[in-house]
Amino acid sequence: MDKKEILKEFSSDPDRYYNVKLFQEQGFVRKACSKCGRFFWTLNSGRDLCPDDADDTYSFIGEPPTTKRFDYTQAWKQVEEFFVKNNHTSVSRYPVVCRWRDDLYFTIASVVDFQRVMGSKVVFEFPANPLVVPQTCLRFKDLENVGVTGRHFSSFCMIGQHSIPDSQGYWKDECVDLDFRLLTDQFGIKKEEVIFVEDVWAGGGSFGPSLEYFVRGLELGNAVFTEFQGELGQHTTLDQRVIDMGAGLERFAWITMGTPTAYDCCFGPINQKLFEKIGIDSDSEILRKYFTEIAKALDNFEDLNDVRRHAIKTAGVTDDQLNKMITPLEGVYLIADHLRTLIFAITDGALPSNVGGGYNLRMMLRRINGTINRLNLKLNIDELIDAHIDYLKDTYPELDEKREDVKQILKLESTRYEESKVHMKKKAEKIREKGVPSVDELITLYESDGITPEYLKEVNAISEIPSSFYSKLSDLHQSEKKKTITELPLEKLPETETLFYKDDPMEFEAKVIKVFDDQVILDKTSFYARGGGQEPDFGSIAGFNVINVDKHADIIVHQLEDGVPKEGDTVSCKVDETRRVNITKNHTSTHIINASSRGVLGSWIWQHSAFKDDDHARLDITHHSSLTNEQVKQIEDAANSMVKQNLSVNIDYYDRGTAEQKYGFRIYQGGVVPVKSVRIVSIEDQDIEACGGTHVKKTGDIELIKITKTKRIQDGVVRIEFVSGPTAFQYVKDQEEESKKQAEENIAKQTLEKQREENKQKAREQIPILLEKILGGESGELDEITVKNKICFTASEQYDDYFHQNFGKKLITKDSKAAFCGIFESGPTVRIMMHAGEESGVNSGEIAKEIASILGGSGGGDAKFAQGGGKDTSKKDEAIAKAKSMILG
Ligand SMILES: [Zn+2]
Ligand SMILES: [Zn+2]
Repeated sequence: MDKKEILKEFSSDPDRYYNVKLFQEQGFVRKACSKCGRFFWTLNSGRDLCPDDADDTYSFIGEPPTTKRFDYTQAWKQVEEFFVKNNHTSVSRYPVVCRWRDDLYFTIASVVDFQRVMGSKVVFEFPANPLVVPQTCLRFKDLENVGVTGRHFSSFCMIGQHSIPDSQGYWKDECVDLDFRLLTDQFGIKKEEVIFVEDVWAGGGSFGPSLEYFVRGLELGNAVFTEFQGELGQHTTLDQRVIDMGAGLERFAWITMGTPTAYDCCFGPINQKLFEKIGIDSDSEILRKYFTEIAKALDNFEDLNDVRRHAIKTAGVTDDQLNKMITPLEGVYLIADHLRTLIFAITDGALPSNVGGGYNLRMMLRRINGTINRLNLKLNIDELIDAHIDYLKDTYPELDEKREDVKQILKLESTRYEESKVHMKKKAEKIREKGVPSVDELITLYESDGITPEYLKEVNAISEIPSSFYSKLSDLHQSEKKKTITELPLEKLPETETLFYKDDPMEFEAKVIKVFDDQVILDKTSFYARGGGQEPDFGSIAGFNVINVDKHADIIVHQLEDGVPKEGDTVSCKVDETRRVNITKNHTSTHIINASSRGVLGSWIWQHSAFKDDDHARLDITHHSSLTNEQVKQIEDAANSMVKQNLSVNIDYYDRGTAEQKYGFRIYQGGVVPVKSVRIVSIEDQDIEACGGTHVKKTGDIELIKITKTKRIQDGVVRIEFVSGPTAFQYVKDQEEESKKQAEENIAKQTLEKQREENKQKAREQIPILLEKILGGESGELDEITVKNKICFTASEQYDDYFHQNFGKKLITKDSKAAFCGIFESGPTVRIMMHAGEESGVNSGEIAKEIASILGGSGGGDAKFAQGGGKDTSKKDEAIAKAKSMILG
């Protein structure tokens, strides 16, 4: 939808869309900006320029328009006090990891807290009306601005003021009145300083007018009145109109403090700690001048690097000041900002990784590490985490609980970064040789090698980071989470009655509603359809085998083989009960392993995905490292302890909002729930999840859980494969049998080896006796040696290398008419060894060469002594026959 068109339309009828009661009561006049033409409302009738274009833009820096000063946490207390006083409920923030929307990784605005998916529609669910919330929002599009512009953050607190116009809530007049009084009464800003600018908001099929409010060029908030749906001109009024007023808490603090940047008043004691490290005074005239110029010029240039150059020139910053003040200061702000974002994200269960939303987190930590190295700072990250959390914990007590987890994760991740540096250094050298890389090349470098542009800048492989890098990267990782839904032509069919959520009979009668080829739809069914990682039930319908069951919205579709019943028939159906029972045990085991993993490993463990079949199952969890054998054992023990305790598994239905308030967002282990009524499966107080699967009644029914394998399947995800119930017992039995078999085989092998050694030893002892017999003229078979006129051949296993070497040599030394050929196995090769006396008429070298070539190898030597061999053991018999005929004729 074209926002400009809508704005034109709305601004052509300001009385209808923008002229609120406050404007009339206070005497606001409507003006058009003489520079950009935008309409704005002001008490100063002589004013001709909108807040963006006026001379007073950012004049609050160094000279705030309030008498009282409020930093970040104090500013929230003021806002909260004001709205609560005016009948709003103050709601705790929602997680920054947006588990309740499947198209967003992170919470990007306060209104997202209350948006729920309902089929394909987004609906609002407010826990109170009206309400105010200090919602931490994460946005990664402007990452290159953070630390530089004085007002961009990777996470910020959006003051969300929300109301539905009904008996409790209000609409435009009261909203704007409240916002005006918040600024004037609560914060003490002069009425004449407040300017409202006409704008519109459009998104997700709905739109409405909005009033942005400014003080001295700083946009403090934007009151959006979501009112219409459809295309402009043919639009209709929404059933559920909503006020979505979002304001930046950081800006509220900034306007009262008048510091050079918003960062100076929003990170508590952190900045001071960092300033001391680098030895700068943030309260200097040149910084005020420089950051005021940055703030004013920000929208006038395409490239941030140009904004910076402009401000350096206009503020008269010397090279020395740039290098010793501005650059280190930007680094300090970046570190404080990024660290705060990581604390929120990790507290809420996200992990830095290479996939999905984890990408941005890893990127931020790498930027922190890169900045620390570039500025050569000696920083203790743990101390900074403590300082952040100590400052924020009154407003956000949950941060305090995860303090140690945050430290552990960041330490591990930093260590990995250090370890990858050798590889990165090599890559950076190559880049330097090749010349300036494009933005796409930089993205590839980050995605495949984890090399950040900051690092490349740090090692002088590039001189500047292209402005579009972060927004491009962020776009790439935004849409990944979206799912595709396949539609089937089932529109007019009734919803299938799901018996598995009721009495769950294993045998039942049902009416055939519709048949498509081999797919059958019944009026009711006990066949569980594939969903939530649980595989479908099998069995029979009208005697035909059920081989698959899928759910399409509210309709369950059974796939049959070898035939189908007729539409309209009433048929008898039978669910394969053994399969169902085993799948059910595996499903409840998934919940148990999830809980025991979280207990053993840490609070960041979430279900990433799961799969439950009848004879095996797996749970993928979010974890940073491979599991050790000890951890696997601990998880398995903890799981079996839950089985032994025979805990009750309860299933209750709740209104979605109630379930979230009662149990928190932990319930969304399996992803979002697109219905109003949530099915909560709780294993007493050990594990509580929203889940549509089949479950045992008591954990004791599972009997046993065995983890069969674990593997780190991707960065940040570990797969746990397991079996439960009878399959687990079978697994244990198989394992025992396997190890018993292994032990028996080992003993047999050892016995055989021992026997061979004994035989070889015996053979060595036989050498003098054999020599005597052969030299004495005996012929025929002597101890598996074929003898014919002192020419001897053997391929017996009882003779080894030592025997052939010694026996052959002694034989021909004692009689020059004698010869000896031995063929034997040595490791993977079949070898031949030849000794021939000078008068024997046998040529050792020729025979060894020929035999070795049959065996696929080579041989060599002279007429008297030669050896060789090859690895082709299949040719052993052929080699023996050939050797025998060559030597014995
Ligand atoms: Zn203007
Ligand atoms: Zn489940």
